[in-house]
Amino acid sequence: IIGVRYVSSLVHNKAYIDGGWVEAQSGNVFPVNNPANGEVLSHVADMCESDTQTAIDAAHNAFVTWKTTTAKERSVLLRRWYELVETHKTDLAHLMTSECGKPLAEAHGEVSYGSSFLEFYAEEARRIYGEVVPSPHPSKEILFIRQPIGVASLITPWNFPIAMITRKAGAALASGCTCVVKPAEDTPLSALAIAHLAHQAGIPPGVFNVVTSSRANTPDVGKLMCTSPKVAGVSFTGSTAVGKLLYEWCSVGVKRIGLELGGNAVFIVFNSANVTAAVDGLINAKFRNAGQTCISANRILVQSGIYEEFLSSLKAAMMDRLVVGDGAKEGVNQGPLINDNQFRRVERVVERVVSESVSCGAELVLGGHGHELGGLFYSPTILTHVNKHMPCFNEEIFGPIVAIKKFETEDEAITEANCTNHGLASYFYSQDVSQTWRVGRQLEAGMVGINEGLISCCEGAFGGIKQSGLGREGSRHGIDDYTYIKYLCFGGI
Ligand code: ADP
Repeated sequence: IIGVRYVSSLVHNKAYIDGGWVEAQSGNVFPVNNPANGEVLSHVADMCESDTQTAIDAAHNAFVTWKTTTAKERSVLLRRWYELVETHKTDLAHLMTSECGKPLAEAHGEVSYGSSFLEFYAEEARRIYGEVVPSPHPSKEILFIRQPIGVASLITPWNFPIAMITRKAGAALASGCTCVVKPAEDTPLSALAIAHLAHQAGIPPGVFNVVTSSRANTPDVGKLMCTSPKVAGVSFTGSTAVGKLLYEWCSVGVKRIGLELGGNAVFIVFNSANVTAAVDGLINAKFRNAGQTCISANRILVQSGIYEEFLSSLKAAMMDRLVVGDGAKEGVNQGPLINDNQFRRVERVVERVVSESVSCGAELVLGGHGHELGGLFYSPTILTHVNKHMPCFNEEIFGPIVAIKKFETEDEAITEANCTNHGLASYFYSQDVSQTWRVGRQLEAGMVGINEGLISCCEGAFGGIKQSGLGREGSRHGIDDYTYIKYLCFGGI
């Protein structure tokens, strides 16, 4: 495979179905590119609807036996899978950097983050407890047990090519569900490498399947994954627009659905904040994966008393610390954007601010253009005095753009923060204890980073409110989407 430094047995280009490597029935393939240089890394099987049906059938058959395995057996297999991912961390990180562009250090971080879900759910598998409830009748006993829902369809994005799969599949398999994964078309190689390790770990055929498909085949594949009578539930991470479509499809068969959709995270810096900590926090919350995460800080609100100090420290830190380039190169911490669409979208967001700057006082303080390296590299950018009508404030930017607005009062910041249809992550910096509670309570978001810019971990309950999604992933709550409560009423006692 061209462009992957560590050529290894982890690299596959066929789909993984029922424990084997399978070509598309049509023989069709689609290219996978390295976003840092446009090189074609591989051609991967382009599965269509009927190929996907094969995977769903395999998962459905495998469920018959998988659901009867003991929690301990599932735990041991998940643990083995976790250990194999850890063993192959370096190869996985290089493969991930090649297909999604994230810098190697971050790719290593993601492999650890991804494997942590397998480890966590290996442990959690053994603690999926039921309940015994006091009965209103002396002759009856009331019990609740948790049972696996069945086949889970897992549809995942390119920005975390491994962790979004393990976060879902770890919980699904721990619960006793089998699954069919459809990775993003930009990053199928990481998904197939993870399948290789599931196989090595001894996960039985049909329990974990990966169906790769091109953008063109994806709508048909996705529709089947949501509507097949053999599928019990769907878990999706991606854009709000696609999430709504899947939600609609799931309504046909009244399927379970977990949705992790777009965010529009606010990052508030109050007068009482520690400026150094806030700048560090923003660099973490904004520039991971070059701003391409659904919990990236999007709207930066800075209180007037601290505004100038914060802005100058941030600008200095960005100029000093952010190194743009091929993520495979030592020292680089800002890789390319994933594809042309993303690049154009970021350009459009910035152009809109620049074109309105005269009429509304917005300013371009840093960057504002494609990076001199060309291709998909974009220069880290600061825009100030933006307003809520601009796309940089009312849309998810998904790029290395910091858009800042000044505010005067706490109430004003909270009103502004909550004035969105999204509610995934939010962040704020304050050294005032009462204020941290007040603001933490009032922010309309599923997750709040308080004096903290990095909130993701397998122990955390990840998820949003409003149009940012349904359900929680990670933590013991991640099991909920894959189990249902069965009420057993024993009579005649
Ligand atoms: P992004 O714009 O960040 O690529 P998407 O929501 O388009 O986000 O992609 C997330 C995942 O959803 C990917 O695996 C993608 O292939 C998949 N996807 C995109 N469109 C559809 C669709 N119509 N049906 C099912 N899955 C889809």
